This record gives sequence, C-alpha cells and structure tokens, in this order.
Amino acid sequence: MPELPEVETVVRTLRPHVQGLTLLCAREIRPCALKGSLPFERAEGAKVCLVRRRGKLAVLELEREEGRLFLCVHLRMTGSLLAREGLAIADSRALEALAGPRTRAVFGFAEGASWPCTAAVCFDDVRTFGRILAGGERELAAWPFWRTLGPEPLDMDAGAFRAVLRGRRCIKALLLDQKVIAGVGNIYADESLFAAGIHPETPADRLSGEDRDRLFRSLGQILEKAVAECGSSFSDYRDANGNPGSFQNSFAVYGRAGEPCRACGRTLVRIKVAGRGSVVCPHCQRKQRTKR
Ligand SMILES: [Zn+2]
Repeated sequence: MPELPEVETVVRTLRPHVQGLTLLCAREIRPCALKGSLPFERAEGAKVCLVRRRGKLAVLELEREEGRLFLCVHLRMTGSLLAREGLAIADSRALEALAGPRTRAVFGFAEGASWPCTAAVCFDDVRTFGRILAGGERELAAWPFWRTLGPEPLDMDAGAFRAVLRGRRCIKALLLDQKVIAGVGNIYADESLFAAGIHPETPADRLSGEDRDRLFRSLGQILEKAVAECGSSFSDYRDANGNPGSFQNSFAVYGRAGEPCRACGRTLVRIKVAGRGSVVCPHCQRKQRTKR
C-alpha cells in the first residue's frame, strides 16, 4: 500500500501537471466514490489551487465561488494517479475513452474554462480498494477517517511524538494507527522499528523516553530518505508519471525474512504483529519485558 513517501511522491509529480488548471470534466468510470462523497461532476469548472498530501491521502483543493472543494484520493492497495499532458481532448466522450481496463475515474483539465482538455489524470486501481471523496468543508468534516487523522510524523517534534505513543498497545499497532500518526504503514513501521532496535511487539508503555526519541529520529530519517528516493516500488506503486521509486533497494528488513540481518548477520524472521506480517531481527530487536 502506498504510504507517506509514495503518496508524497505522487503529489509532487502530479502537481506540475494540474495545479493552476481548471478541472473541466470529472467522470466516475467504475464506482469508486466514497460514501458521503458528492458526485465528482460537482467539481467541474473549479480551478485546482493546491495539490497536497495528508497522511496517505492525495488531496486536490479546488476553488469554486461556493467555497473550496476537495478531491481526496485514497490509493489503498493498488491505486495510482497517472497524469498525461499535451492533449487536445474535445469532449467528455473523448475523455472517457482514455480509460483503460483498470481505470475507475478520469479527470480532464484545461488552462481556462473551455474545451479542449490539455491534461488528464486517470485513477487506475487493479484491486479496487481505492476510494475518492469529493466534498466541501462539510463533507470532509463528516468523514470519520479525515476527522480523526493523527498528526503528520514529519511535522511533529520529539515531545509530541513521545506524547502520542502511550498505553499498553504494542508499538507497531500504534505506528500503523492513522489516528495516532498519519501516513505510516507496514513498510516504514518495520524499517523504523528495526533502525531504532525496538521489537514491534513492545507495549508502548514499556518504552523509555530514550527509546521513543530514537524511534522518532529513525522514523523521520527513513521517511525523508524514502521521499528523496521517490518511495518504494515492489508491486504496483508508480508516481504520476508512471515511474517507480527506489527506496525498496534500501530495505533493511521489509520483505527480507530468511535473509541475513544487515547489522548482525543473523537470520531475519517473519512474525505477525497487530494482524500484519512483520520482519524482525531477533537479536537487534530484543523484546522488552521491563521498562529500561
Ligand atoms: Zn540483527
């Protein structure tokens, strides 16, 4: 699933294609609108004033006379936003014709408010878990996922990070919980826990202040490096230009069960934590039974 670095890369590569343009035509090809969404057509005629990321969501902010409208794209497992420009699409039928077998929605953009569309974005999604919410402030506020999203890990300081990691739940479950911290998934949870030498099953309240600070630094460094390397591509993930990322070449543990630990040479093992497959080094990530 695309996580913070992948969605950040999608947003950064999508932005130059559409920011500042008018969304002329929006079509849902196969159902992908989230419950509570306005019809995508309601965004037609609005200007894209900002393309940004929030957690694992890519957000297009559009300016209308009635107020701001948001297109929030949750890529989930296999969703992608693929941009094309230099087009001359004459009408909505021609725009819909851009849809491939995996396309669930298409969006056409132009410099002004009249056809042809010079740019298009296809929301493609093989596994069909992805969703889009179109809405104004009201629809956004009514969307529980949005309303409860936790803080951005790259915008937090160490004190705020320490404060959210509390209670008896295991540390990995907390890192994965979008209400606690937004944007972290299985890859970057496993990688940062390994880098910090913390076993994923450690209850949060058994971690010392030093452990939390180490994890905070590891998570920040890994997310920033992954953003710099345009995310991790080991299955479907591609940026808005169709290019893969390269952080998968830097994985220390994720997807490496059975291989030697890069730090100590012992064999990495796969365990299940918080319902998710997790790869750990039993030597470098000792289970903590008591607070250190
Ligand atoms: Zn090791």
